[in-house]
Amino acid sequence: MQRDILQRPTLTGRSIGNIKSHNLRAVLLTLLHQGPTSRVHLAQLTGLSSTTITNLIAELLEQGIVAETGKEGNAEGRNGNNRSGAGRPPTLVSIVPTARYAVGIHFGVDTVRVGVTDLFGRLRCYQVLSHPTDIAATELLEQVIPLTDATIGQAGISRAALVGLGVGASGLVDLVNGVNVLAPNLGWRNVPLREIFARRLGLPVFVDNNVRAMALAEAMFGVGRGVNILAFVYGRVGVGAGFVVDGNVYRGSLAGAGEIGHMTMIPAGGAACRCGNTGCLETLVSEPEIVRLARALAARAPDSILAASLAGNGPTADPGDAAAAQLRVMADAPDTPIERIFAAARAGDRAALSLLDERAFYIGTALANIVNLVNPDMIILGGLFAAGADLMLERIGETMRRRAFAGLGDRVALRVTGYGRKVGVIGAAALALDTFFYRQQAPVEVAA
Ligand SMILES: [Zn+2]
Repeated sequence: MQRDILQRPTLTGRSIGNIKSHNLRAVLLTLLHQGPTSRVHLAQLTGLSSTTITNLIAELLEQGIVAETGKEGNAEGRNGNNRSGAGRPPTLVSIVPTARYAVGIHFGVDTVRVGVTDLFGRLRCYQVLSHPTDIAATELLEQVIPLTDATIGQAGISRAALVGLGVGASGLVDLVNGVNVLAPNLGWRNVPLREIFARRLGLPVFVDNNVRAMALAEAMFGVGRGVNILAFVYGRVGVGAGFVVDGNVYRGSLAGAGEIGHMTMIPAGGAACRCGNTGCLETLVSEPEIVRLARALAARAPDSILAASLAGNGPTADPGDAAAAQLRVMADAPDTPIERIFAAARAGDRAALSLLDERAFYIGTALANIVNLVNPDMIILGGLFAAGADLMLERIGETMRRRAFAGLGDRVALRVTGYGRKVGVIGAAALALDTFFYRQQAPVEVAA
């Protein structure tokens, strides 16, 4: 029987396996970030011997993980000075994106998104489950597990081709145990996500915070590829950030880094936040808060575009409505109050425009704080900050640049995610791809 090069080594005293994992990690990550690369160039970039590279690539070729994709043709400076000698140019090697797949599960506040991606984070299939915000974890998981099975089935791939499952959880996660310690917006405490999914789905599972997962997706496959210090800032019901530094997710001591939604913006007299504090960023720029403020504006001006737009929304699409609170798999084309507010602003409603401008000022102020603290090369916006970028990005950027220290903000590239609402599920899959494929980490064994 053929030995699987990607077989997961155990953590107990398999030093040869560990060295091989280390070398594989270097090769796979280099191929991901560089694209098609010659063996000689791979040796230069990884610092591994050409013999090691030749052997690893031979095994990866045999298993269909990489393919030879032609000759090194372009005049990239660093490719040009390899010492492959005279004669034909070296053959390039690249990852075969469909050689393996990963499953991602993204937990939002009222939706769960499940998807299967290839090795480049491209979604092969994708499902959305909407649910009431106060659902118990056990009840929701009973729906998510069969949905995940169905999504894997729909992908039309062999289960053996799955490297694992990544879970983007809301709030605080205990990474060591894969437990969702606290999800204030769902009212969850200590939900053992890894243990449940590993046992029920029979896959290696890695759980992390959902916004951190999005940051990883951008760094591996998206707008943030090749960026040294990347911050991803997301806002929906919750507001959070994820940081990737030199390709590594920055998590902090207790995996609590990035909780910018609970950055104090109004030290005295601010509104109560679900975290128990007051005056948090989340109380100013979250989706429910913007919708609440817009409804108040619409009530004062019943003839406005905003009022018409929000009324046209109809009661059934309101997340607080009983009909919307039923579990259902839905198409991912939301007609939500926030989209109605954006539509009103785009149609020229003055109150809506000024409301969003005000919110953009707070978001920009928060970004200036991030710039002063982390000094990133790039900040990528997601969630409603991306969906309303045409209305808010200018003010967000202007505020960030003006309020950041000593012109640091001028050097930050401010971008919007290209993944739209799928960034969370791609991020969740990226957790599994990063952990179990590109970094060759051994999964934690879960008793059956
Ligand atoms: Zn808070």
